[in-house]
Amino acid sequence: MPPVKYVSMDGKIVPYDQGTVHVMSPAFRYGAVVFEGIRFYWSDSRKDLLLFRLREHLVRMLFSMKIMRFDHDLTVARMEAGILEVIRRNELRETGHIRLFAYVDGEGEQSSQSPIRWAITAIPMPRRARVDSGVRCGISSWQRINDNAMPPRAKVAANYNNGRMAMVQGKLDGFDNVILLTQHGHISESPGSCFFMIRNGIPVTPAVTDSILESITRETLIQLFAEGLGMKVVERSIDRTEVYCAEEAFFCGSGQEVVPILSVDHHAVGTGAIGETTRKLQKLYFDVVTGASSPHPEWITPVYAK
Ligand code: PMP
Repeated sequence: MPPVKYVSMDGKIVPYDQGTVHVMSPAFRYGAVVFEGIRFYWSDSRKDLLLFRLREHLVRMLFSMKIMRFDHDLTVARMEAGILEVIRRNELRETGHIRLFAYVDGEGEQSSQSPIRWAITAIPMPRRARVDSGVRCGISSWQRINDNAMPPRAKVAANYNNGRMAMVQGKLDGFDNVILLTQHGHISESPGSCFFMIRNGIPVTPAVTDSILESITRETLIQLFAEGLGMKVVERSIDRTEVYCAEEAFFCGSGQEVVPILSVDHHAVGTGAIGETTRKLQKLYFDVVTGASSPHPEWITPVYAK
């Protein structure tokens, strides 16, 4: 059973089963696909679905395509209209997730003339259990890709094979999630989320030059730390053993949300339970995304009211 009735292909609504790409396309052969993952939340207070930081995701989509030299005619307005349409046509009224793709199609080797197509899916996706339970993670022996080989700043499907190898290995080793180190041996990020720790009372997150995706959730939390908790986040390189000594740590991402880290390489983080500040930040984040509080109305795009 498909999760929804429709998907959007090149701006047109089609039945879910027609959301296909040919095996000969560079998208399939080489992972020549740029994408975004965006959440929308059911808001009890507004009786509407709220897309979180849609504009920022669409701007990142454009710069990922720029880095990848995708020659296209997509705009923020076209992508936004496509996203709203696919949610509305599926009549979704529960928390879920958008995937927006742009990909290289055609049969031959890819060139600047290869057609760029685009697609959107919208499916229900509730909060995952690990947001409440936390995760035990390990430092991967796989190194994070770097800017001069496969730029992590661009959200490109092929990049995710790096995270996949690390995650499959990490699961075999008994961990729930993994942290990859940069080519210089500093903390980078997990396969699908960014990293924060609290050390000596100060929140710290790797710098954007530490081979991370420039995460929208990371930026949101930097603001919520300051505005909601009066704590200034330091963006700098982090050594592996600093994490072993941290009081609290968590992962963050649009899909993953805010996931507490209980241990790293079997070292308990703090007491080994979910930290107090992490819990406060989770509450601030969930209140903002579900519209229970609205410190930044510009972060929210209502689906049905608009
Ligand atoms: N890093 C990677 C590799 C990711 O895939 C994601 C999820 N998009 C993130 C970090 C978090 O980014 P964002 O907060 O923008 O979703």
